[in-house]
Amino acid sequence: MSTVPQSVLERRPAEGIAKCEVPRCPACESARRRQRTTVREHEYANSTTDAFPLMECLDCGAWYLSPRPDVSALDVIYPPNYYVYVLESKSGGDVDAARRGLFSRLASRLFRKRIRPIAKYMGLTAEKTRLDIGCGNGSVLEAMRDEFGIVGTGIDFSEQAVAHCRQRGFAAHACRFEDYAPEGGETYDLVHSSHVIEHVESPLAYMQKAFELTRPGGLNVFITPNTATWEARWFGRHWGGLHVPRHWTLLDPQSARRLGERVGFEHLETCFSTNGTFWTWTFHSLTLPWLGRRLSDALFPSDHRFIESSLWNIARIAAFTYLDKANCLLLGQSSNMLCIFRRPTE
Ligand SMILES: [Zn+2]
Repeated sequence: MSTVPQSVLERRPAEGIAKCEVPRCPACESARRRQRTTVREHEYANSTTDAFPLMECLDCGAWYLSPRPDVSALDVIYPPNYYVYVLESKSGGDVDAARRGLFSRLASRLFRKRIRPIAKYMGLTAEKTRLDIGCGNGSVLEAMRDEFGIVGTGIDFSEQAVAHCRQRGFAAHACRFEDYAPEGGETYDLVHSSHVIEHVESPLAYMQKAFELTRPGGLNVFITPNTATWEARWFGRHWGGLHVPRHWTLLDPQSARRLGERVGFEHLETCFSTNGTFWTWTFHSLTLPWLGRRLSDALFPSDHRFIESSLWNIARIAAFTYLDKANCLLLGQSSNMLCIFRRPTE
């Protein structure tokens, strides 16, 4: 059952929200670009009806929205039923009950698989220090503790998210990553984020900050969508990884590598994993004009309802997960990539 009030679901979508021009590529600062397409929100009926041009950088290959929503419009493009907020509120009351949910268990299992390649480059043991950027309700911190025994620290701009991390027993700070300044200039063995870099204003500033916070010899690891896949090219404005208007910069293995190397990191590896959610969003966008919102939402739920532990949600995600596994096996990549960098020892 959805815990979202009806008044939130019936909120009228905004038109003509505040936007800002992005004249240069947010990943490499080049002004050379072309417009790939124009994309509209389809996942949340109570967000915005505006269209957003999707640019492609002709130097590094990154895709970015320009104009993109202004930060003053964040509460419009992240409506109160945004799935991350719903996940956070679910884990607020009874942490153990939230953890036992079928969706939570499946997500945690998939995530533990995704992060295993990190162990090739660093002996991951309990003494290692780790920072999780955009820690949300602490499920990633928990997965890292369960997989490797590392008790990390979290940062998130949501006070509610930070409170839930603390409830799960982790140290957590409520601030923007760019403003985070640990006491005594502390650095970490592992700086990690999952699906954060594509949401930030400046991926370059993000990576510079990540470099400062990574100990020499330590690792910086992030998970982000990969635009180099056949489905990202084939489905165009319908591709679920676009998550418009919330994903502001999208990378491929080459642009991600360039971005890391530009701030001083050594690139170690880019690995690929499954992401059934992108497929759900792709099919939602494709079917919406033909089936209408009610039917399309029921078959391919794209808003907070895709995280509900229903049999259909689990079956669909399982099917799409196998589709991505086949992608990885046959083509060597998927729409979900894990980029691993090392800060050189000085
Ligand atoms: Zn670029």
